[in-house]
Amino acid sequence: MSRLLLVVVIFIAIYLLLKYYRKQVSKKDVLGENTSKYSENMVRCAHCGVHLPKGESLMLNYKHYCSEAHRSAHKDEPE
Ligand SMILES: [Zn+2]
Repeated sequence: MSRLLLVVVIFIAIYLLLKYYRKQVSKKDVLGENTSKYSENMVRCAHCGVHLPKGESLMLNYKHYCSEAHRSAHKDEPE
């Protein structure tokens, strides 16, 4: 019975180590938050499909465009 207890303790120790390791990994993710936030704000040009930051995109009818040329191209020929 004491052997079973030892096995359980070892399993708990491994579990806690894995948990600790994952915490360390997620801390690294927090450090890289800037890049993930950046990608969240990326939008796709409705004309050519290029990805660009939302702040740099041009909008027309709730669609994003990478340049004035692509925006006007859709203005002339709506889908
Ligand atoms: Zn474009």
